[in-house]
Amino acid sequence: MHDASIRPPKLASRVVSIARLVPVATIATLLGLSAGEACASEPERTNLERWVRQLASPELEGRRGEGARKAAGLIVEEFQRLKLEPLFQGQYVQEVPPAPPVEVLGRNVGAVLRGSDPSLAERCVVVSAHYDHLGVRQGVLYPGADDNASGVAMMLETARCLAGAIEKPKRSVVFLAFDQEESGLYGSRYFAAHSPFAVENIELFITADMIGRSLGGVCGDFFFVMGTEHVPALRPWLTEAAAGRPVRLGILGADLLVLNRSDYGPFRTRKIPFLFFSTGENPRYHAPSDTPETLDYPKLTEISRVIHGVTSRAADAPTLPRWNDRTDNPIEEALTIRDVLRTLDANREKLKINAAQGFVIANALRTLDGVAGRGKVTPAERSLLIQAARVVLMTTF
Ligand SMILES: [Zn+2]
Repeated sequence: MHDASIRPPKLASRVVSIARLVPVATIATLLGLSAGEACASEPERTNLERWVRQLASPELEGRRGEGARKAAGLIVEEFQRLKLEPLFQGQYVQEVPPAPPVEVLGRNVGAVLRGSDPSLAERCVVVSAHYDHLGVRQGVLYPGADDNASGVAMMLETARCLAGAIEKPKRSVVFLAFDQEESGLYGSRYFAAHSPFAVENIELFITADMIGRSLGGVCGDFFFVMGTEHVPALRPWLTEAAAGRPVRLGILGADLLVLNRSDYGPFRTRKIPFLFFSTGENPRYHAPSDTPETLDYPKLTEISRVIHGVTSRAADAPTLPRWNDRTDNPIEEALTIRDVLRTLDANREKLKINAAQGFVIANALRTLDGVAGRGKVTPAERSLLIQAARVVLMTTF
């Protein structure tokens, strides 16, 4: 997750020709997918945990500078092992030129699983996560296990499962690991401006940032999804993918956050349907204590399976819901905010919630009781709730 206080760099205004997706794979390439993967069906905890531990290990130096280069290399190796096609004209790496204040070369890593239906293969679903983090600062390692080794692990496991499926997805599925997210979403902004294919071909953009803990360290089984306000028809898909799992889906509008806080930003701006998954900020956010042994791996596994489920459904659907400019703000969102505020309120001491914050929470909860009773939220009530949630979220963590 990118710290909103960091000023984003200007994009290099380099003109790059927009080519189509890399050439269609031959049938032989598709059949050549490693047989050992053929029975893989869902993201597995052991693999997710192994990825997080590897990406957050001291050898990868907090995935900045040389450490980021090593992390990119590991992701390339995995894409090769899965026999996915390189995304960038025969290369897995898109170099991101430095632009002040970002002084180093960045590397987005991308691969594609070619769609099996010729009439849909030009369209794609993107599954992404940023792999960079804060590096080593004054000799102290920032491992970034939750932020965002957790998301990368999900993306790689989703890639493994889809690449190994006996029936290939009908649409193409693009897997992307973005660099320089922590520098004002620079990697994903560069990708969106210099994509190797027309970004209008992205019918659904999925990203996950910090999916291994819980909001405030207290919202146990909750995970949050933003973006359905522009594509409400995806909401039942999420509900179905999460049904029966020991995790709780929290629907929120992306306008709850003042700025675009992760790589969905450049795609949201371009009106591409997106889903942003996160378990939210917590006391280890951007701290040296964001270490692999403190992650909730069963929860990460469940969330990864939900994302894998939604991705494969989207990749195979005859049509996908389109972007709506007008957001709908459903009762589910108000109920999510209510349950989160209740949980935070019940942990006042632990979270050091002061009297002023307590007042804001109590006030919002009163409004929410009315909303829940009527089963409807008015625009005025919603803006009050958003304000309250922002005040609490921005002053508590
Ligand atoms: Zn971050």
